[in-house]
Amino acid sequence: MKNLIKTSENYPIPKKMKAWVLCNPNELKLVKKNVPMPSFSEVLVRIDAVAICATDLDVISHGPPAMIEGGLPFNKNFTPGHEYMGTIVALGPCVNEFNIGDRVTVEIHAGCGQCKRCRMGMYTSCHNYGLNYGEHDKGHRANGFTTDGGFKEYAINHINTLIKIPDEMSDEEATLVVTAGTSMYGLTELGGLVSGESLVVIGPGPIGLLGVAIAKSLGASPVILVGTRNKRLKIGKKLGADYLLNVKKEKNVVEVVKSITGNIGVDYVLECAGTEQALNDAILMTNRGGKICLAAFPHDKVKINIPYMVINNIYMYGIRGEGKSATHRALSFMKDKKFDAKLIHTHTFNLEDLKIALKYSRERVDDAIKVVLKTGE
Ligand SMILES: [Zn+2]
Ligand SMILES: [Zn+2]
Repeated sequence: MKNLIKTSENYPIPKKMKAWVLCNPNELKLVKKNVPMPSFSEVLVRIDAVAICATDLDVISHGPPAMIEGGLPFNKNFTPGHEYMGTIVALGPCVNEFNIGDRVTVEIHAGCGQCKRCRMGMYTSCHNYGLNYGEHDKGHRANGFTTDGGFKEYAINHINTLIKIPDEMSDEEATLVVTAGTSMYGLTELGGLVSGESLVVIGPGPIGLLGVAIAKSLGASPVILVGTRNKRLKIGKKLGADYLLNVKKEKNVVEVVKSITGNIGVDYVLECAGTEQALNDAILMTNRGGKICLAAFPHDKVKINIPYMVINNIYMYGIRGEGKSATHRALSFMKDKKFDAKLIHTHTFNLEDLKIALKYSRERVDDAIKVVLKTGE
């Protein structure tokens, strides 16, 4: 099989690469790993940039949602990181969908491709999640969660997870496609926004802010962004939000949202804060028959106002990741410059400086939102 793999002298591939591995919780080590070679339907990507996501922080500190060999991801030579982009440097046997030298960004989940959900395009909710080892190998892949991720120099990707990016898109911006794809997945799973329908986004983190941008691109109006930090709210304004509500200043956000929407509340809420308060606010600000998308999750069980939801025929959707090729739809808006995703990218570090970059991301040092690591030079 090895001689069926295509490589190019323009993109020499070293035998070994730098890779961060997760040891004990919150303990990362920079090691050398062998550069893997692609199999059927796979390519080798030279990682040029990788963004840090709040979920990486969860994985590094607690483990889930990462799952390696059926258990926690610690001390298993596992490399986290899932929001990466790069250049294709080797093609697996029979791959002709892509060329060496193509710049691509990647989806996280390849799924197993054979379970009921994968067959529906819901590969982010694969029934065989984590089954990719030993006798339990169903071929499932979710890079940075169940298989090796992007805090390293080279990665294997299934061709289904690749999205070609335009030449003029920077490496940093390309790492944001999967985040925009997650916002897109949430909004389209709500049934698709119809122009002129109202929407609230709670929580101006990366998914919330790009949620504002995607909702505006889909024609939602008005779009109301709710948060606690003025700086982030202002970025939301640049991404298209019609109204900004700072919960620290407003006595009753639910009432304000209602007053903006003719006293009935909004058609959709994209909930990206994941707190009990935010969830209950989301329920009370949604109009009868409206829909709520849960794009963040609380760490503990929470009490929410189910009676109000039932009495008012309010729907609630959980979403996981970037299913149903949503990244391709998000990229299409980014390619057409419907919004400037770069507004949420705040810091860049070298791959070797992962620990500092994680600190910036976790503690929001210097108002960090999206922190990106670059490899090479
Ligand atoms: Zn992420
Ligand atoms: Zn599956």
